[in-house]
Amino acid sequence: MPVAAVAERLGVDPARGLSSAEADARLARFGGNVVRVPAGPGPVRRLLAQFHDPLIYVLLLAGVVTWVFGGHVDAGVIAGVVLLNAVVGFVQESRAQRALEALSKMVPVTATVVRDGLPQRVPAARLVPGDVVELTAGDRVPADVRLAEVHLAEVDESALTGESVPVVKATGLVPPSAVVADRTGSGYSGTLVTRGQARGLVTATGGATQLGGIQHLVATAQVVETPLTRKLARFSRQLSVVIVAVSATAFVLGVVRGTPAPEMFTAVVALAVGAIPEGLPAAVAIVLAIGVVRMSRRGAIVRHLPAVETLGGTTVICTDKTGTLTRNRMTVTTLAAAGELISLADSAKSLRECLIAGVLCNDAQLDEGDPTEIALLGSAIEAGLDPEAIRAAAPRTDTVPFESETRTMTTVHNGISYLKGAVEEVAARCETELLPGGGERPLDRDALDRLQETLTARGLRVLAFARLTPVPVLLGLQAMHDPPRPEAVTAVAACRSAGIDVKMITGDHAGTARAVAGEVGLASGRVLTGAELAALPAAEFDETVAATQVFARVSPGQKLDLVRALQRGGHVVAMTGDGVNDAPALRRADIGVAMGAGGTDAARQAADMVLTSDDFASIEAAVRVGRGVFDNLRKFIAWTLPANIGEGMVVLVAILLGATLPIVPVQILWINMTTAVFLGLTMAFEPTEHGVMARPPRPPERPLFTASLLRRVVLVSVLLVVAAFGAYRLQLGFGASLAEARTTAINVFVGVQAAYLLSCRSLDRPVVRAWPGHSRMFLLGLGLTAGLQLLLTYLPVMNTWFHTAPVGVVSWLWVAGAAVVAFAVVEADKLLWSRYTVKASRGV
Ligand code: ATP
Repeated sequence: MPVAAVAERLGVDPARGLSSAEADARLARFGGNVVRVPAGPGPVRRLLAQFHDPLIYVLLLAGVVTWVFGGHVDAGVIAGVVLLNAVVGFVQESRAQRALEALSKMVPVTATVVRDGLPQRVPAARLVPGDVVELTAGDRVPADVRLAEVHLAEVDESALTGESVPVVKATGLVPPSAVVADRTGSGYSGTLVTRGQARGLVTATGGATQLGGIQHLVATAQVVETPLTRKLARFSRQLSVVIVAVSATAFVLGVVRGTPAPEMFTAVVALAVGAIPEGLPAAVAIVLAIGVVRMSRRGAIVRHLPAVETLGGTTVICTDKTGTLTRNRMTVTTLAAAGELISLADSAKSLRECLIAGVLCNDAQLDEGDPTEIALLGSAIEAGLDPEAIRAAAPRTDTVPFESETRTMTTVHNGISYLKGAVEEVAARCETELLPGGGERPLDRDALDRLQETLTARGLRVLAFARLTPVPVLLGLQAMHDPPRPEAVTAVAACRSAGIDVKMITGDHAGTARAVAGEVGLASGRVLTGAELAALPAAEFDETVAATQVFARVSPGQKLDLVRALQRGGHVVAMTGDGVNDAPALRRADIGVAMGAGGTDAARQAADMVLTSDDFASIEAAVRVGRGVFDNLRKFIAWTLPANIGEGMVVLVAILLGATLPIVPVQILWINMTTAVFLGLTMAFEPTEHGVMARPPRPPERPLFTASLLRRVVLVSVLLVVAAFGAYRLQLGFGASLAEARTTAINVFVGVQAAYLLSCRSLDRPVVRAWPGHSRMFLLGLGLTAGLQLLLTYLPVMNTWFHTAPVGVVSWLWVAGAAVVAFAVVEADKLLWSRYTVKASRGV
C-alpha cells in the first residue's frame, strides 16, 4: 500500500504522529508491544526433576531395603535426607534462575517515536499501531513498520529470514505476493538497522508482528550452565563411578568377612552418598549467580553466565575513549581558521559561518543527541547565535549521516551543502579556506596540520567544517574538551597493578588519543594509527599490537583484527564497543562489553556484558568481582571435596579394618546434609579478598584443580579421618558407650570441617593475615551448624533417630582440640608451600 494510504488506515499524520491520548487509548485496546515467551516447566515439574538422579535412586533403594529389614527409623531418616536434598536443590536452582531473569530484564529497550509532533523516547513495550517511529543505524526495529522515509537505510533481517546480507530499504510498492524477505518497504520487529536512517509507521505490535508469529525463535529458556559447571558435572560423574566401584568392592569384602548383607548394604550406600560431591555443579551455579548480582551492583550487567568466570581471567582490556574513559560531556573551547587560533568570544564575527555549519550539519537538540553535536550548539549559543532561528531559516532537505568509516556527515539546506568531520577527511575535499577577516585563500595544508597538532596535543577533539557549494571551502575548526572520568583514572591504575594490560582504541586523532591516554594514566608510548596498522607486515602484526597501548583513527573492522591478534598471543580479551560495526569484535572478544546508556542495540545484543553507566571503572569492578568469584569457587571446591572424601573414607577404612563403624550411615547422611548447606554454601557469599587486584591474572591455561589444590584436599581428607577415628577409639578406650563415642566422632568431624572452612577464607595466605572482613553469612552458618550439633547430641528424639547420646565436657574438649590442631596444620601447610611457590610463580 502507498504510505499515504497506510497512514489513513492507521489514522495518523506521518509528520506529527499520534497524540499521547490516542496512543494511550490504543495501548489499552491492543495491549503492549511484547511477545509473550512461553513459561518454562512449572515448580512441581522442577521439584520432581530433583529426584531424577541415579544417586537418589540408589538412596531410595537403600531406604526400601533398610525398611524391609526392620530399620524403620533409619529408612525414615533416609527418606528425610532425600526430601531435604531435593528441596535444597530446588531452592538453589530457583534462586540462580531468578537472579538471571531479573537481570536480563534490566537492559532497557526503548524506541524513538514521534507523538504530538515531537520526537521522544519511550519503552518499546508501549508502542501502538499507528505510532511513527524513527530508526537509526544500530537500533533494533521495535515493531513491524511501513517505511515512510528512508536515508540509505539497510536492515539486517537474518533473525527473521535467515538472510545474512543486509536488505536495502525503500519506500516504494512491492507486489502483494512478495515474501517477507522481499518486502523492502517494510521493517520488521527484532531486525537490526545496520546503516542509515528511516521513519516508519507501526503496523503491528507484540504477538501480531512477524516475530511474534514465530515465537519459538525467542522461546528458548536460559539454562544455568557454563563450561565450568559442565566440566565439574563431568568430574562429579567420573568421581561417582570410582566411588561406586570402591563401594561395590567394600560390600563384597564386608560380606565375605561375615557382616550381614543388609547392614553392609546400608553402610556402602552411606559411603557412596557421603563421598559423591552431588551438590557441586549446583553450588557452582549459585556462586556464579551471586557474582552476577554483585557485578550488577557495580554497574555491569552480565548477559551470559560464563562471562563471570571469564572476567576473572581477563588479561587485556581494550576500551573506547569517549564516554568510557572520559565523561562524554564535550564543550568547545577553541576555534581556528587559516592557521590562527580564535577565542570563542571573537568567533561570532570572524567564524560565523563555521558556527552556523556546526548548527545546521547537526542532529542534536540542546539537551539530547550526540555530545559532540550538542557541543557545537553550545559554541554557537556562546558566540551569541540562535540555533533555532538558524535552523528555521535553512530547513534541511537531505542528509548523509555520520559513520565511523567515513568520519564525516553532510547535510543539504536550500541547495547549500555543509560537511563536517575529521580534519583529514574534510581537508581532502577542499581546495580553498576562508580567512577569519573575510575573503578566501588556497588551503594551506601545512598550517592546518600544525593547528591540528597544537589542538590535539591539548587532548581536544577537533572537527573541521566546510561548505561544499558552489565550490568546497574550508570554514574552520572547532576543538572540544571532554574531561576524563576521575574514577576511570583510579580504575586504570588498579588494572595495571593487577597485571591487566589496558589498551585504548579510538576513532579519534592520534594527538587527542595520546593526550587523553596521558591524562588517564595509560602508558602512551607509541600511538599506532589505523593506517599504520593496515600497513604492518603480517609477521610483525601480533607482536606490535601486543606492545602498543594506544590505537587511533581505528575503524570498527580493525577492532576485530586487534582482538584476533591478541587472542593468538594467548590473551583473554575484554573489548568495549557501542556501534553496529563493533558487533563482530564484541562477539569475537572473550568478554564483549557494550554501553547501556550510549550504545546501540546491535552492540548490546552481541555483548556478554552491558555497562549501565558506560564507565570504565565498571569493567574494572567486574573483573575484581570475577576474580573474587573464581576464588570463591576454588574455596568451595577446596572445602567440599575433603569433606566428601573424608566421609567416604571413614566408612571405607572401618570396613577394611573390619572394625565397627565410628560413624554409622544415617549419621554420615546427617553430616553431609547439614555441613554442605550451612557451612559449604557460605563460601558463595564470601567477600572478595583484599589484594585480588594486586596479583597477576590467572594464566588462561591453568586448570581449576591445581596440584596444590589436590595436595590440600588429600591433606584435609586424611586429617578428617584420623581425627574422627582417633576421637572414637580414644573415647571407647576411656570407657564411653558406643553411642557416646560415635557422637564425639561426629562432632569432631563437623568441628574440623568448621575449622577448615575458616582456613579456606584464604586459600594461599594465612587467614589471620588475609582476613577478608566479617561475613554475616559465615557467622550465621557457623552458628546454625553449632546449634544443629547440639540438638543432635542432646535432643532425645534426635538421639533415637540418629543413634547418638548426650556427651560430657571432655568430649567437647576433643572437638575443640581436633579443630585447633587441624586449623594449625592447614595454616602451617600454607606457610610452608608459599615459601616455595613465591619463588616459582605467585599464588597457589
Ligand atoms: P571514541 O573511542 O573516542 O569513542 P570513536 O571511535 O567513537 O571515538 P568516532 O565517534 O567514530 O570515534 O569519531 C571519529 C572521528 O569522527 C572523530 O575524531 C571526529 O573527527 C569525527 N566525528 C565524530 N563525531 C562526528 C559527527 N557527529 N559528525 C561528524 N564527524 C564526527
